[in-house]
Amino acid sequence: MREFIVYHKLYCQQHHKRPCTKCETLLEIANYIVQEEIVKLSVLWRAFFPNVIYESDKAMLKILKLPVAIFRQKGPSTPLHVTELCPEVNYQRLIQWLDKLTPVKLSGSSKLSKEMLHGLCKLASSEKDRTLLKYTACASIGLSGVQAKKKLGISDFGKLSKKVDVALAEA
Ligand SMILES: [Zn+2]
Repeated sequence: MREFIVYHKLYCQQHHKRPCTKCETLLEIANYIVQEEIVKLSVLWRAFFPNVIYESDKAMLKILKLPVAIFRQKGPSTPLHVTELCPEVNYQRLIQWLDKLTPVKLSGSSKLSKEMLHGLCKLASSEKDRTLLKYTACASIGLSGVQAKKKLGISDFGKLSKKVDVALAEA
């Protein structure tokens, strides 16, 4: 990864027009991964693209431009993790270790149910509060639009996040 950062910087300086925000962002992401060592793909995505809804396949395509390994901890519904690609690392074993180290479950599967969210929304005093509540529920556990619908009965996550953007701009 460190070589990649050095060479990519050089290549960009010689071949791309200034300023080259695309490469800059990519390099910032690369540095972030080096620093964090292992980071959840959804967390990484939200740190760099806060205005783009997280979708794991799109995020993967983008991040895989870097020399990284992306893996799930265990099972299909666990969160994706990103780490620097090292040829000497046995990722199969790394996953097994991670599984032993982390307490039972990482966030991914939320304790917040449709019913609980519904109850909380009843408590919220305004439509704006309800919007923020729903959005926070999705964002905090990294749900995609489809998951938001399935798990929490939120049908239009895209619209919801736009509303939140507006509310934040007004705040
Ligand atoms: Zn560039």
